[in-house]
Amino acid sequence: MPHSLQAIGVSVAFGGIVALADVSLDLPGGEILGLIGPNGAGKTTLVNVLSGFQRPTSGDVRVDGAPATRWQAHRFAAAGVVRTFQAVRPFRGLTVAENVEAGCIGRGLSRTAARLEAVAILRTLHLADKAAWRADALNFGDEHRLGLARALALQPRFLLLDEPGAGLNAGEIAELRDTIRSIRDRLGCGVLVIDHNMTLIMGVCERVQVLATGRTLASGTPDAVLADAAVRRAYLGAAAA
Ligand code: ATP
Repeated sequence: MPHSLQAIGVSVAFGGIVALADVSLDLPGGEILGLIGPNGAGKTTLVNVLSGFQRPTSGDVRVDGAPATRWQAHRFAAAGVVRTFQAVRPFRGLTVAENVEAGCIGRGLSRTAARLEAVAILRTLHLADKAAWRADALNFGDEHRLGLARALALQPRFLLLDEPGAGLNAGEIAELRDTIRSIRDRLGCGVLVIDHNMTLIMGVCERVQVLATGRTLASGTPDAVLADAAVRRAYLGAAAA
């Protein structure tokens, strides 16, 4: 059975608005795939479809080849499909460590095992020294790290990151790039990265798929996609083409 998360010919319509029109995407285990496109291109809608937060109007979703189109979000999560949201929403009254432990316990670990694993996860995200802080005391960059830590607590086989670089400075983007790479290397999971930050996308992705107005415009290596005239017109603006 192939280890992959797939959308096959997916369309999504919201009333008269066509958010996705016949889009296919294949995220194999172990690959870091970028998903880029102008605002409103359909990127978040595709991630929603791939994680059970949005039922497609037509088309199919498969997890390791099995039909998953009608699965609800919790079933995707149980199958190892973990997504982050543009806004991190931690449990603000809990400590940083407790936020991560909650995910580990939800996965079935005992309290003791969850505590140990949370410490290990926080260490990889450079948050160990703030483990006892309340989540609402974190600054913006650390709150983003906590969002990733909570996703790792669920042991993703497919990790879908919706704009993980939003609002981060250049140093934080470089750290995020290294973190995404080390997560993939350690867990062997497929990672889908949506972002508008080209430094992040070009620095970490092995393949990039471009959406524009709900359709796939191009897919290929970062260099090939950046050189594509249609992509430059649609995504970077006519002046760049
Ligand atoms: P951004 O880069 O701004 O986050 P995006 O590429 O993620 O954009 P989507 O958020 O997927 O794009 O939106 C695709 C289209 O679908 C847009 O026209 C958006 O307004 C529309 N849309 C998304 N969700 C809904 C909804 N729940 N109801 C109605 N229209 C929606």
